[in-house]
Amino acid sequence: MIDVKTGFLLWVIQAGTLAILLIAIWLHGREQRHFLWFGIGFAAHATGLGLVGGRGDIPDFVSIHVANVTSLLAFGCWAGAISALDRRQPPLLAWLPPLVWIGCNLVPEVRDTFYLRVATHNLGATVGFMFLAFLIMRASFSSPRYRQMLAVVWSIQALSSISFCVFVLFDKPRNFQADIIGLWMGTVALIGFITAIIILAKMLMDRSEERLQALVRTDPLTGVLNRRGFTEAYQRLQDAAPLPGIGLLIFDLDHFKQVNDDHGHQVGDMVLQEFSNLCRSLLPQRAAFARTGGEEFAAVLAISEPRDAALFAETVRLALAERVISTQAQDLRITTSVGIAVSPLSRAALDQLMTDADAALYASKERGRNRTSVKSGSRIMTVPPTGSGKADRDVDGRVDRQVAILKRIAAVATSLDD
Ligand code: GH3
Ligand code: MG
Ligand code: MG
Repeated sequence: MIDVKTGFLLWVIQAGTLAILLIAIWLHGREQRHFLWFGIGFAAHATGLGLVGGRGDIPDFVSIHVANVTSLLAFGCWAGAISALDRRQPPLLAWLPPLVWIGCNLVPEVRDTFYLRVATHNLGATVGFMFLAFLIMRASFSSPRYRQMLAVVWSIQALSSISFCVFVLFDKPRNFQADIIGLWMGTVALIGFITAIIILAKMLMDRSEERLQALVRTDPLTGVLNRRGFTEAYQRLQDAAPLPGIGLLIFDLDHFKQVNDDHGHQVGDMVLQEFSNLCRSLLPQRAAFARTGGEEFAAVLAISEPRDAALFAETVRLALAERVISTQAQDLRITTSVGIAVSPLSRAALDQLMTDADAALYASKERGRNRTSVKSGSRIMTVPPTGSGKADRDVDGRVDRQVAILKRIAAVATSLDD
């Protein structure tokens, strides 16, 4: 059997190594703040235990009070890590464990009595573990299964800490060497500690994998899907088959090269971001939106009839035409041309839809830009654009505007519905 001091040393080495590893990971990707919180938590845990282990060799105040407060501060840091993963503010209550210690030690009898101090530390740890269990149950990252497993581990640790707290109140041990049960409890703590780390490591690995997968499918400039992500989203929409038809839209910004030439590439980038945000905000349910090329975007929609796709295209086109984009030098306006292809779900094929939508887009450009064309069968119909949308602009309210758009679409809709 190893002695208590060796046990402390082993524990300190384990927690200290973890702390260094986690902080090193954070240094490589500083936006992942949970690694820093976890790292500082393990560093505090290791430091606190190391100081407790130094009892007799270092001043008592350090090995008792500084040590216990430091090791209990770890709970606040771990709570901070979970909150960071969960994108929430760390709750102030997470700092309760060290406060429990400080509060109880204001009582001279507790301060001067070994077993009362041990009980106090375990009371603080109980509060800390319960709080961690609560936070992980409330969280929404990773899978519910892993979160439940962690909550169970931390609840068992809370139970073991409170049992030990009660035990020492009855047993009244005089020093660390005195209790066998302490070693048993230590074993529970060790197993709990390692189990929690394994589950957390698995959760963090899954998360990194998900982030990587999301990056592969995302356009870095605008944050919307890229071509690859779009192809997969199309497939999912087709497989889920919520409505009888599919509409595919291609948006190509008009005279975009001129924007770059007149205002610079950075302003061009900003326009691309603005357009993406606009489309995202107007996108209906059961749809996906992507940047498929330089200033070319695509959307896929589950539709009941072709006019659904035309309505979305016209809504976006008009919203963009009316938007004033502010740049440092001057305000600018931009328009988009849209090409649409529609197909019954059963016969839909992405390649064909893309080719047809491209042909419709070409027609929109040919017929003057800032307009929407739909390819239906072998024909291409262009929705009357009413100038820059003035007729629509004069209409008050969103519903009335949609009616105005639908009236224009209706002018070509008979042919669309063929
Ligand atoms: P059209 O109305 O016929 O579509 O004319 P256009 O100028 O929009 O089309 P063209 O294909 O001639 O030019 C597209 C321009 O888009 C050229 C390229 O410099 C610019 N572009 C492509 N990708 C990016 C990007 O990521 N950022 C910026 N700022 N510009 C880009
Ligand atoms: Mg283009
Ligand atoms: Mg263009």
